[in-house]
Amino acid sequence: MKWDAVVVGAGPAGATVAHELSKRGAKVLILEKKKLPRFKLCGGCLSARIAHLLPEGWEKQVLNKIRGGILGWRGETFIERSADREVAYIVDRANFDRFLTEKALKEGAQLWEETEFMGFSEGKTLEIFTSRGNLKADFLIGADGFYTKVGRQLGYKKKIFFRSVELPAEGDIGDKVVIDIGLVSRGYAWVFPKGNLLNVGIASTGRENLGELIGGYIRNHSLVKPKVMGKPRGWMIPFCTKYEDLQLGRGRVLLVGDAANMVDPLLGEGIYYAVKGAKLLVKALERPADDFARVYRKLVVEDFYEELLFAGKIADLAYRFQRAAFLMGKEHVLERFFHILSGGYSYKRAYITGLPEFLIELLRDLVTKTLKV
Ligand SMILES: Cc1cc2nc3c(=O)[nH]c(=O)nc-3n(C[C@H](O)[C@H](O)[C@H](O)COP(=O)(O)OP(=O)(O)OC[C@H]3O[C@@H](n4cnc5c(N)ncnc54)[C@H](O)[C@@H]3O)c2cc1C
Repeated sequence: MKWDAVVVGAGPAGATVAHELSKRGAKVLILEKKKLPRFKLCGGCLSARIAHLLPEGWEKQVLNKIRGGILGWRGETFIERSADREVAYIVDRANFDRFLTEKALKEGAQLWEETEFMGFSEGKTLEIFTSRGNLKADFLIGADGFYTKVGRQLGYKKKIFFRSVELPAEGDIGDKVVIDIGLVSRGYAWVFPKGNLLNVGIASTGRENLGELIGGYIRNHSLVKPKVMGKPRGWMIPFCTKYEDLQLGRGRVLLVGDAANMVDPLLGEGIYYAVKGAKLLVKALERPADDFARVYRKLVVEDFYEELLFAGKIADLAYRFQRAAFLMGKEHVLERFFHILSGGYSYKRAYITGLPEFLIELLRDLVTKTLKV
């Protein structure tokens, strides 16, 4: 039997591609090396703008509704703002990903769990090698996350990424998320609610010992006082700051989600872009085209590439001058973020509007420091 598409990975990217293709009548097989529901290291924070992209019933997956944020400086001082609406949702990734995959299965997709994708060869049709035998397909979709085997066979390498660690903890921060800067060279620490518990993590592109740092962060946090419940676990978060970082595949082998680096370089938000990218990929396959990869790239560039680019520009400034970025939080920055998360504002507008304000804050901080010396 020949499949219309074989999708590697049952995360948000793969499950959404499989769901959308199956809805259109395609014969789709999902290969997933783990058994579902599988653990995925992740804060599980969905920005509210994802709502209209998710299949019916997704609300039942929501553990916490986020209505505000706290920007912290090294877990010592804080700026707190409430939003007049829900700006984000927390889900459990194991359950959320299984929910998305089940939606695909209901539309007729098939799932081979505990089956590893091993490689492919390109002829008239694609031959795909798996731990359960060989398959034939018209399209191969690599939605296989950071260490993408599909992407590596295409010759891609991951060049820029956050390293991150996270652990579960006991504690209560209500309906807000905490983001602390000033702790790592380029990145941040966070405390998110997760049901009745907390998810505490830290991510950086630098070379710090994150295992040690997260211990100190938790011990000294003056606001939350989390009680550790497990050992820190680590994973990578790739991201995209320029055109070449979008590794979308070629011919009939396409990549999506983390495999394609569809993550914002400021917050490391990947689920929204994985789902969005999956929808664009399926749209590209619907077009009568010789070069699906080119059409797919065009759609991604038109849709959200600019957002990633401007999130990167903000990240460059905010992580280079973290004190000024924190102080700027007192102004309208948190409110602007709430707007971005809700989908009513863009990183581009935030950058253009915020740049002069940021430069003033930077100058003020420099003058204060100089006067102190
Ligand atoms: C610590 C941490 C916190 C994060 N917090 C957030 C957050 O709060 N909000 C947010 O939006 N993003 C967050 N992210 C990023 C987010 O987790 C990813 O962007 C998202 O999971 C990408 O989805 P995906 O479907 O592309 O890949 P994944 O979710 O990684 O799924 C890939 C799937 O492919 C499978 N697979 C891999 N290789 C093979 C193979 N050879 N054969 C078969 N199957 C294979 C894997 O088992 C996995 O199930 C966080 C990431 C980390 C590490």
